[in-house]
Amino acid sequence: MPPIDLRSDTVTQPTPEMRAAMAQAVVGDDVYGEDPTINRLQDMAAQMLGKEAGLLVASGTMGNLAAVLAHCGRGDEVILGDKAHTFLYEAGGISALGSVHSRQAFNQPDGTIRLEDLQAAIRADDVHAPITRLIALENTHNRCGGVAISVEYTRRVGELAHEHGLALHIDGARLFNAAAALQVSAAELAAPADSVTFCLSKALCAPVGSVLCGSRAFIRRAHRVRKMLGGGMRQAGILAAAGIVALETMPAHLAQDHRRARLLAQGLAALPGIELDAGAPQTNMVFCSLNPSVPLSAAEIAARLKERQVLVGVVGARRFRLVTHYWINDETVARAIEAFREVMI
Ligand SMILES: *Cc1c(COP(=O)(O)O)cnc(C)c1O
Repeated sequence: MPPIDLRSDTVTQPTPEMRAAMAQAVVGDDVYGEDPTINRLQDMAAQMLGKEAGLLVASGTMGNLAAVLAHCGRGDEVILGDKAHTFLYEAGGISALGSVHSRQAFNQPDGTIRLEDLQAAIRADDVHAPITRLIALENTHNRCGGVAISVEYTRRVGELAHEHGLALHIDGARLFNAAAALQVSAAELAAPADSVTFCLSKALCAPVGSVLCGSRAFIRRAHRVRKMLGGGMRQAGILAAAGIVALETMPAHLAQDHRRARLLAQGLAALPGIELDAGAPQTNMVFCSLNPSVPLSAAEIAARLKERQVLVGVVGARRFRLVTHYWINDETVARAIEAFREVMI
């Protein structure tokens, strides 16, 4: 039996339909713009996000980097959350490769940044200061518990950005999860933003890739940056074919992942040794901690779970992250809860 892998939705294997589409994909040289499958995926993604154009990139990290570099020049500043993936987990690429200065604003527990904090972070026109160019939000917000950021809040940040002549980028790695949780379209969530990245390779189950979307002029700039980063791929329509199936079949499934996250959370909350983060999971992530009665560390519990074929993310000395996805069903949720019960005795 394969392990029950709850470490992340990045572990998702492509579906049989995706593998079939990949085998049959019509491909061409995408650096010449001649891969019809990539062109179709990019058009589909742009349309679903309500933007003029899309650009297939190798990863979410590359998509965010290409976006920041297309918005900002050397020494310009981007305002982002202190718990933003781009700040914490993208190897400092915006500074190392783009010479873009980052200004961290405090992320509230709900993944937002207070409007007054954003406002205060925008620089005055002063030779001492870098030039603020961009605000970046994240939706769903990974480190804040997979919370979904509302249309209304996003709209207000977009207004603030545009009043000051700034652009708004959304790291929407899991934007479709946010859309499913809030019961709005991805386009509504993306509307206030000048650019959005989303991952095909997470809950949408495709093996590789993200898509960056924005205006035609913006995507043209990002396209050059992608080439500069070594991201000009050739017959990558093989990958895009899976992405098309992902966009066609997966968004409708995400509500099930979210239901299972709530099921998992309820089961874990009923165990004496586990304390769940406040509030039911909004999307596909469950964060929980060991209470003081448990003498073992999270790493030790995770090792014992692994012996029982259950893999979980350890995100602190006594803290876990568990992520539901397409390959987790009601039965595997029940088995994961049972494994937790066994290892904590
Ligand atoms: C996963 C993730 C990324 C980066 O995606 P990769 O494809 O792993 O590079 C960016 N932002 C958020 C919020 C993510 O969760």
